[in-house]
Amino acid sequence: MPLATRQPAAKAADLLAWYDRHRRSLPWRVLPGERPDPYRVWASEIMLQQTTITAVKPYFERFMARFPTVEALAAAPSEEVMQAWAGLGYYSRARNLHACAKAVTASHGGRFPDTEAGLRALPGIGAYTAGAVAAIAFDRPAAAVDGNVERVMTRLFAIEAALPGAKPVIREHVLALLPMARPGDFAQALMDLGATICTPRNPACGICPWREPCRARTAGTQESYPRKAAKKAGVTRYGAAFVLLREDGALLVRTRPNKGLLGGMAEVPTSDWRADYELDGAAQDAPFVTRWRKLGTPVRHVFTHFPLELTVLVAKAPATSQAPLGMRFTPRGKLRDEPFPSLMLKVVEAGLAALRPPSSAP
Ligand code: SF4
Repeated sequence: MPLATRQPAAKAADLLAWYDRHRRSLPWRVLPGERPDPYRVWASEIMLQQTTITAVKPYFERFMARFPTVEALAAAPSEEVMQAWAGLGYYSRARNLHACAKAVTASHGGRFPDTEAGLRALPGIGAYTAGAVAAIAFDRPAAAVDGNVERVMTRLFAIEAALPGAKPVIREHVLALLPMARPGDFAQALMDLGATICTPRNPACGICPWREPCRARTAGTQESYPRKAAKKAGVTRYGAAFVLLREDGALLVRTRPNKGLLGGMAEVPTSDWRADYELDGAAQDAPFVTRWRKLGTPVRHVFTHFPLELTVLVAKAPATSQAPLGMRFTPRGKLRDEPFPSLMLKVVEAGLAALRPPSSAP
């Protein structure tokens, strides 16, 4: 008999039984029998997009302490939201999160819509998040397909099509498996399976509840899934970042435009970031005419679409200096309140360390 016909079918019940024994305890997850708070489910899902659970956990706790309800988040000034988000990356998520909280408060009386379609109509909620929130918060039979779920499904069914083209097929498989009872637990079980058992490398197939029906395991080809289309590496961009410290300890800072990369975040003034940036002409991009000192080691950062290399230039300015238009001098004690993304924290740290008098060096 050919192998394919002997393969048993994957069942939701097997996954749910496994989940009942091995579910992860997460700050945004409720205990069995408790009703989840849609606000917490939604906020955690937005934070978890492109960010690991380990990184999100402390942010989530702090964020919820600061903005305990969707109304509190909606009423907060955007600088405060960006500041609470600083360090999590992908800052358009924070702007969308804030816009969504305002929409839920203004148009839905502070209650999240309980259907996928209703959720998708809100700012920043795409197919995945709508499915995840509908399933987890409202126990709707919805598919929530993230990277973990894609990996499990492509292995379970040996899906040969490469991502991202395979997404519709994967979704169909998830929908076909969805149980009418406990769809919210099913969505979370699938996520947990991908995160803890069906890992990218060395999946623990021996203890997987779907080891029998899994086609990739049977063929011994687990790690070759999901198939991926070849990716083009982004071209490295270069630029200069200017760390100007006034003699009273204030740092020259500005806010990036709301739209675009790192929108609404704080930064020290920088040049444009270009593949053909000429560092020799950096003085022309400086916010002040002064003697700039170039640091030897550039700050490197990798964005989704390109790597960036910023050369840091440092200088001091007299205590009476005024900030150029659109910039401000932030006193040293208030720097922590500036929503610097992690790239800028590295730049500021490198610049301030270089400006510190030698006697105060550790
Ligand atoms: S048997 Fe292995 S490859 Fe298949 S779903 Fe389970 S962990 Fe993943």
